[in-house]
Order: sequence, then structure tokens, then C-alpha cells
Amino acid sequence: MSEQTQEKSSKLPQQLSDETAIPVVYQHTDWQGQAIDLPAGKVVCIGQNYLDHIQEMNSQPAPQALFFIKPTTALRRLAPVFVIPSSHGAVHNETEIAVLIKQPLCKATSAEVAAAIWGYSLALDLTLRDVQAELKKLGRPWEIAKGFDGACPIAGFVPAALIDEPQQLQFSLQVNNSLRQQGDAILMIRSITQILVEMSQWFTLAPGDIVLTGTPAGVGPLQHNDQLHLALSPWLDVLTTVHTDQIK
Ligand code: ZN
Repeated sequence: MSEQTQEKSSKLPQQLSDETAIPVVYQHTDWQGQAIDLPAGKVVCIGQNYLDHIQEMNSQPAPQALFFIKPTTALRRLAPVFVIPSSHGAVHNETEIAVLIKQPLCKATSAEVAAAIWGYSLALDLTLRDVQAELKKLGRPWEIAKGFDGACPIAGFVPAALIDEPQQLQFSLQVNNSLRQQGDAILMIRSITQILVEMSQWFTLAPGDIVLTGTPAGVGPLQHNDQLHLALSPWLDVLTTVHTDQIK
């Protein structure tokens, strides 16, 4: 089978190729659906960044930040449908503010961070919770529970220039019309700026990379045909549907 190269165009890639069932290239878009001229990079995430989520997981706050990475192959468009695995136990929603990087950040200072941000969006840090619990028990890294194909459905990005105070963003997730998560960036343990500064001490953030900023409480299992409404007020209202990978 010959490899197909996808060139950047305003045409958005489809979520899945039916013939091969291999996910095709994901492309960053803005909140109005226009392609953004940045490559899809890695996704660098922080865990345990909201106290209420630490409590619901029966964890303890730690002085050291918990960082992990999802590969580019985890990225998918959030809407109108995204696909979750059906054969690895519970898949939990974690609704998070996402930051798109447009300039390299390497061992950055807080003064350098603002100029490196393209914009903000919402993403789901999908988590195979049963797999993660088992790996934690074994003392192993939980990469596969967070980095599997499709583990990061993401909406379009609102340009940073439109958002005066990103640390005051508020967001929510409704599942089948009932409120499951409500987030307020002001309640982050580490601010968005702090997160980027600290991450960049370990991992260079490159243009096209995404940073996820942690989930508030309300994580829980997603089911086939769940109707989700993600809101980043007043910028984004995204309606989407969950499908499992067994049902075409
Ligand atoms: Zn998360």
C-alpha cells in the first residue's frame, strides 16, 4: 500500500478513513473552523492541578508537578463525533483548557510565555481509568491509559488576542444535559503561565504543541451515544457525540 501524503489545505481531514480504519492527519483549527498554519505536535499535560479533582481521586497534593505526554496520534477533532475504545474498561472524561503553542519555549521565563501562545480551547484528556489503576498498582508508567490513539479530542482555538484574562476562563461539560464538570481557571494550583514555564524546563514546547492544564472534579465514564456539550464561556459551545470503536 502506498503512503499518501497529506498537504496542508483549508480542507479539513476526516476523522477516520473508513477503508483503512487508520486515523488520518489531525489539523489544528480556529474556533470558526479555519485551519491554523501550525503542525500538530505533542500534547504535554499536567495532572493534579485542581484540588477538588485530587480529592475525588483520593490523592494527595504533591510539591512536584505531575507532567505527562500524549503523542500526536492521540489528537482528534472533538466534534461532531469522537470515538472511544470499547474493550479496555472505563473511559473517563477529563475536560481541560488547552493552550496552543506558536513559538518555541525552552527553559522559558514567565515573561517569554505570553508571546508564545496562539490561543486557547477545550480538550478531553480521555483516560482508560481501569487500565491506569492497574498500572499504578504495578508501579508502572500509565502511558497507554492516557496516550492511546484518539485519547485527545480537541475543539478549535480562540486566538489569545481575544482573551484578556485567560486565568479567569470558565468552562463546563454537560453529559446528556446534566452538568458533570465545571471548571474555573482561577482555581488552578499552578497558573497557565507557571505550567508552561515549568514544563519547558523539561520538554521544549514547539510550535504546534498543545498544553493541557488539568481537570477539575467530575471525571466519570463515557458511554456510546452520550451527548456532550462543552462550553468555554463565552467563546466555545461544542456539541458532540461519543461513539465506541465497535459500532460503525
Ligand atoms: Zn487530565
